[in-house]
Amino acid sequence: MERTFFAIKPDGVGRGLVGEVIARLERKGLRLIGLKLMQVTPQLAQQHYAAHSEKPFFQGLVSFITSGPIVATVWEGREAVSVVRGLMGATDPVKSAPGTLRGDYGLSISSNLVHGSDGPEAAEREISLFFRPDELVGASRPEETWIYAGE
Ligand code: UDP
Ligand code: MG
Repeated sequence: MERTFFAIKPDGVGRGLVGEVIARLERKGLRLIGLKLMQVTPQLAQQHYAAHSEKPFFQGLVSFITSGPIVATVWEGREAVSVVRGLMGATDPVKSAPGTLRGDYGLSISSNLVHGSDGPEAAEREISLFFRPDELVGASRPEETWIYAGE
């Protein structure tokens, strides 16, 4: 089963959307295996967003992600990386489809509610930046018999 890193950014936490966002991923059938409310340090933010270090929006991104608590999570499921990216919607919420998290909850590209790994390698890297192995708990859901029926 694939794993992905997913975070609710400071705007999502500040706007009181934690429950609604987590509920969307739960309803899809993904298995929640890691969860913490945390303050991201500038060092962690720079490591996490290292791929964007040369971009013009990098400093703003680091200040935003460190501006308040985030909820960091890890999810497991069939093709979890692309499934979560699909639930999130496009990076720019103006272009995200209705029904996606970004499509339903905002208009700002910098405060766009959520982060999700963009591939399996990024997922492994990001999971290990935010979680120790013993913080991940594999709890299967009884309804997985139906969620994965026919697989
Ligand atoms: N971002 C921004 N301005 C841009 C592009 C991206 O502020 O022009 C921010 C935005 O919050 C985005 C994050 O940088 O979520 C990381 O960018 P990426 O291209 O990885 O988008 P994502 O994977 O989050 O959809
Ligand atoms: Mg990205």
